[in-house]
Amino acid sequence: DRPVLWLLGDQLNPDLDALADAGSVLLIEAHGFADRKPYHAHKLTLVFSAMRHFRDDLRERGHDVTYLRADSFGEGVAEFLDDRPDARLRLMRPASHGAADRLRELVADRGGSLELLDNELFWTTPADWREWAGDRDASESGPEPLVRADGTAERTFRQEGWYRHVRRETGVLMDGDDPVGGEWNYDDLNRETPPDDWEPPERPRFEPDELTRETHAWVRERFDTWGTDSLDAFAWPVTREEARAALDAFVRDRLPSFGRYEDAMVTGEPFLSHSLLSPAINLGLLDPREPVRAVEAAYEDRGVEPGAYDPAADPAGGGSGATTLDAFAEGAGSADGDADLPPVPLNAAEGFVRQMIGWREFMRHVYREAMPALAEANRLDQSRELPPAYWDGDTEMRCLSEAVDHVREYGYAHHIERLMVLSNVALIYGADPADVNEWFHLGFVDAYHWVTTPNVVAMGSFGTDVLSSKPYAASGSYVNRMSDHCASCPYAVSRTTGEGACPLNALYWDFLKENEETLRGTGRMGLMYSHVDDKDESEWAAIRERAAAVREMAADGTL
Ligand code: FAD
Repeated sequence: DRPVLWLLGDQLNPDLDALADAGSVLLIEAHGFADRKPYHAHKLTLVFSAMRHFRDDLRERGHDVTYLRADSFGEGVAEFLDDRPDARLRLMRPASHGAADRLRELVADRGGSLELLDNELFWTTPADWREWAGDRDASESGPEPLVRADGTAERTFRQEGWYRHVRRETGVLMDGDDPVGGEWNYDDLNRETPPDDWEPPERPRFEPDELTRETHAWVRERFDTWGTDSLDAFAWPVTREEARAALDAFVRDRLPSFGRYEDAMVTGEPFLSHSLLSPAINLGLLDPREPVRAVEAAYEDRGVEPGAYDPAADPAGGGSGATTLDAFAEGAGSADGDADLPPVPLNAAEGFVRQMIGWREFMRHVYREAMPALAEANRLDQSRELPPAYWDGDTEMRCLSEAVDHVREYGYAHHIERLMVLSNVALIYGADPADVNEWFHLGFVDAYHWVTTPNVVAMGSFGTDVLSSKPYAASGSYVNRMSDHCASCPYAVSRTTGEGACPLNALYWDFLKENEETLRGTGRMGLMYSHVDDKDESEWAAIRERAAAVREMAADGTL
């Protein structure tokens, strides 16, 4: 009898090799997890709708699919094995820590067996990682935990080295042994903010169909959710076909300006030129190799020198105007069409590739290696509860209210809002990293434990130094440089102390001072501490007073 392939909700790809020798497929829609916390309604809608569409897609492709809805995986597996006690179950290794063992046990407890397969939906494997990082398995009793109880790492990893290794191994954007263009990194070209009159290409919209609408209505009734009640802003791809169209749309329209404005924040523009592909990639609807290869191919066809294309000076820079699936299907792939498309500067292509094969793959392996301690890591010993503004968006701080509103409305905020506003404010305010992690996990449509945990706990909260030698902490001047928020904010970014001063400024200096013992000696903090040293006692007294007032207002919801 051929094995039954059990696919999880983030493994929704009909082209998996694992499907080729599966006799049938099992999908279990487990609901219990969402009873425990208020997830964003769009996130639950996305996951459940994508699973239901995937079921239908597989059936259309001729697969025999058992689709069960249950409170827990345990309940679903029991129901399945009652019906098919002799089934041989197979599962691609789940991305979530501990899930493989838990699921195997759960199947064994009910008299079944579960064989684990490699997870095809990451580009690099644990063996690839070991080849680069070396084996940590030296001692007889197994490896020491990578992250120690105090948050310090037994070993540290840097993304840049990994990224170059993977570029070499995969040959992506390589010219023999050298990176295309001669440099590995063009980030110095990727820090511009667009002029006021520049309009980003329109976000591709995949209108919710009947099944998505039904799923949303059920989600709203069945669970206590967070975020907008309406489905109006929901435009995420829920099928593989839509995900492919989303990728085409990105490569056609947004990729040319992706690099240059990658770090910018603009009021009223949540998406700018970001790819918006993480929800589809993390569900498995896209294989991570696809966007990378598509961007590489676009660079081969339409590539220009780093920085050689200015989207703000291009009247057609707003993209093809095709914003529905049908319009893309008509226009996509036509050779003539390509001639009219804006060029792809190398800094855009390289920037995107680094996000994918550098950061995304890197984070996955760091997570694998550093769990379970990573989830609890709290090197700076921070313990404040997240301010209520993270839930209701109710704050006068422009940068924070804008970013939180994006999350409430779309379950999405782009990378710089996540890192330099949402997690930065939590960091310098002193929030507990595990709480911040939970907030991201509940609120974002692309959030899964394997990806939020390294991003939020390690990168954003500096709960451990496993992947960076200094915290991503910033004052108001960073936000002012990278956004247009400060101009319309009632707080004065030019001031640090006293009423009306930008809250980020006092929090930032106070954070550095409070954590001096841990941070002064680490990595690249020398310059920052030279500024700390320049301040006299009266300045510190005023900073502390303002920081205390800001924290109090934030906690009261009156900031
Ligand atoms: P783009 O800017 O277009 O980037 C392209 C792709 O690169 C993304 O789709 C994503 O697949 C990948 N990528 C880029 N950076 C990372 C990264 N650091 N880790 C993993 N993948 C990356 N990403 C998630 O997928 N889920 C999360 O829950 C998540 N939480 C985050 C929390 C914090 C505090 C931070 C700083 C980052 C987080 N990220 C997360 C990473 C990154 O911000 C998102 O992947 C990205 O914003 C998704 O939007 P996009 O598809 O438009 O990305």
